[in-house]
Amino acid sequence: MPVNLPADQYFALIAPACVILLGGVLLACWWVQRNQTRARFLLWMAAGYVLPALALGAQSLMTNAQLGRWSLATAVLYLAGAWGLAQGMALRCGQAHINRWVGGLAVVGTLAVLYYFSYVDDDLWARVQWLNVGVGVLQFLPTHSLLRGPRARDRLETALRWTYFFFASYTLLRPLGVWLVVPVEHVGELTRSGYWLLTLAGTLLFTLWFSLVLLACVVRDVFTTLREERNRDPLTRLLNRRAFMEAAEGVLNDRRVAPWAVVAGDIDHFKRVNDSWGHACGDQVLQSVSQVMLQQVRAGDLVSRFGGEEFVLLLQRASLDDAEGVVERIRQQMASPQGPCLPNGQQVTLSFGIAPVHSLLHLTKALSRADALLYEAKQAGRNRVHVDRLLPPSVLNDFQALKR
Ligand code: GH3
Ligand code: MG
Ligand code: MG
Repeated sequence: MPVNLPADQYFALIAPACVILLGGVLLACWWVQRNQTRARFLLWMAAGYVLPALALGAQSLMTNAQLGRWSLATAVLYLAGAWGLAQGMALRCGQAHINRWVGGLAVVGTLAVLYYFSYVDDDLWARVQWLNVGVGVLQFLPTHSLLRGPRARDRLETALRWTYFFFASYTLLRPLGVWLVVPVEHVGELTRSGYWLLTLAGTLLFTLWFSLVLLACVVRDVFTTLREERNRDPLTRLLNRRAFMEAAEGVLNDRRVAPWAVVAGDIDHFKRVNDSWGHACGDQVLQSVSQVMLQQVRAGDLVSRFGGEEFVLLLQRASLDDAEGVVERIRQQMASPQGPCLPNGQQVTLSFGIAPVHSLLHLTKALSRADALLYEAKQAGRNRVHVDRLLPPSVLNDFQALKR
C-alpha cells in the first residue's frame, strides 16, 4: 500500500476514522448493558459501522489497480457491515433476524458479479454500482420489521426508524443517481474523484445523524431500565411501595377517574408454605398471585407488593361494590385449577380489606383502614374479604351539612 500519497488522500481517512470511533462508542454502550439481551442489537450495529469503515479507509488509500485486486475482500467487509446494520435494526424493532435467504442471495449474487467485473471484465464503475445495489438490498431487509413489528414507542424511536429507512433508500438509489449524473469515463482515479469525496461526506453525515438518534435512544433505554429497577419489585415485577405512592398521586389527582378504592391483600399462612415446601416454592406462589392480580384489574389500576406477602391495589372508577367484584374475581381465579396451588394440591388463599379513597390527602388513612379490615378478615378465619361500608365522619358531616 502506498504511503507517500498526496495530503488530501490522507484527509479522506477522516470520515472512516470517525465512523470507526462511533462504532467504538456503540460497542462501549453494548458493554455497559451486556447482561441485557435487548442491548444485543448494539453489537450488530457496531459491526455495521466498523467493518465498512475499515474497507472505506483502506480503499481511500488505493489506486484503481489496487481497488481491482482487493475488490472481493473489501466487498465482503461492506456486505458484512450492511448485514450487521440490518440485523441490528431488525432486533431493535422486535424481529429475531432478517430474512437470511434473501440476505444470503444478495451477498452471493453481489460477490459473483464483483468477481466477474474484477477478473473477467475489469470494470471499476460496474463494481462500484453493483456493490452499492447489494449493500442497499441488505440494508432494506429490516423494512418489513420497521413496518410490521411493534409500533415505535415514541418520537425518538420513530426518528430512528425513519433515519434508517432514509439511509437505506439513499444507498439503494445512489447507483441510479451516479449513473444519471456522473460522467463516468472522465473520472480517472476513483479515490481522487469528486464522487468518492461526495460518498465519504454523505456516509459521514448520515452516520453522524443516525448515531446521534441511536445514542439518544440508548440513553433513554438506560434511564428506563434504571427507573424500572428503582420502581419494581425484582421478584414479581409489581410496583414497590415507593413507586405505588408516586403513581397513586397521579391517579388521585385526576378526578375523572374517581371514585377510587384501595385493596389490601395478604397471603394466608404463607410462613407454612415456606416452611413446608421451601423458599423457592414460596417465591413461585408470590409470582403466581401477582399474575392473577394483574389479570383481574383494568388498565390504569395500580398493583403493588408492599412487602413480604402483602399486596396493595388502587382501583380507579371503582365503587366499593366494584372493588369487591374485582377481589372476588381474584379469589375465584386463585381457587380455579389454573390458580397457584401447592405441591400437595392445596389451594393458596388470601385475606383482603377494602376501603374507599376520597382524595390524595386521604390515601394514608384509607391504607390504614384497608389494613385494619385485612387484620379483621384474618381474625375472622382468613380467606375472606372485609369491606369498609361506613362513611368516614368528615364525609358524613358534609352530607349532613348538605341536608340542612
Ligand atoms: P397470616 O395468614 O397471618 O398472614 O400468616 P403468614 O404466615 O402469611 O404471615 P407471617 O407474617 O407470619 O409470615 C410471612 C412470611 O412471608 C414470612 C416470610 O419468611 C415470608 N416472606 C416474606 N417475603 C418473602 C419472599 O420474598 N419470598 C418468600 N418465599 N417468602 C417471603
Ligand atoms: Mg400472610
Ligand atoms: Mg403479612
